[in-house]
Amino acid sequence: MIILFVLLGFLAGALVNQLGSDLPARRELTRPHCPYCGRERPTWQWVTWPAFLLGQAKCPSCGAPIRMRYPLVEIGLAAMYAYLWIILGPALTIKLLVYLVYSAIFALILVTDMERRLILNVVTYPSMLLALVASFVIPDITWWSALLGGAIGFLFFLIAAVVGNRVFGSGAMGGGDVKLAAFVGLITGFPLIIETLVLTIIAGAVISFVLLITGLRKRHNYIPYGPFLVIGAVITLLKGYPIAEWFLSL
Ligand SMILES: [Zn+2]
Repeated sequence: MIILFVLLGFLAGALVNQLGSDLPARRELTRPHCPYCGRERPTWQWVTWPAFLLGQAKCPSCGAPIRMRYPLVEIGLAAMYAYLWIILGPALTIKLLVYLVYSAIFALILVTDMERRLILNVVTYPSMLLALVASFVIPDITWWSALLGGAIGFLFFLIAAVVGNRVFGSGAMGGGDVKLAAFVGLITGFPLIIETLVLTIIAGAVISFVLLITGLRKRHNYIPYGPFLVIGAVITLLKGYPIAEWFLSL
């Protein structure tokens, strides 16, 4: 079953990679193709990591290399899917299925936000609806907890965006971040959304600091907030209550 979930993760990764290229270009989902010459990729390159392993990670027609993002997403999702099966299996519960979908959504948001500074409505709106519906059927969360969490995430990031844009100039934080925060609040619920926001701020501070002192980014450069929210959300969903108990016992 673990192998099955790893394979499922590779396929989900291939789908996320394709959506991550098509959706920001305002296209419907296309078959995998080379962005340089437009030729469709052969089927054996639809999941790209074996091509990397074989040293064949390039377009057979024009020789353009396949970008590293593709195998990273595939392997990342495969690892996450195997891990979710280990911690949420061995029964195929609704929670497990929903978390598989959430993982793919987070991967897609990471791709579009880090590559193009875009968190698309076409991703966040259906995701919010899914999270709200899931709150009625997943045992660990109630619909009122989800709605309250979503409202807190939304308002916190809305205020941060308004203040941030006043202080740092417009565009410091976008509407996509605010909607992502609402989605994250809907899936973690109240009170865990509070923990998510704290973890998001810590992740943002630590990673920004490391990027600044290593010179990878300059102070005025844009750093996307979406990935920090995703990090905060994933940690909360996997370890939220143990962390809260540890914190309250201090
Ligand atoms: Zn090509």
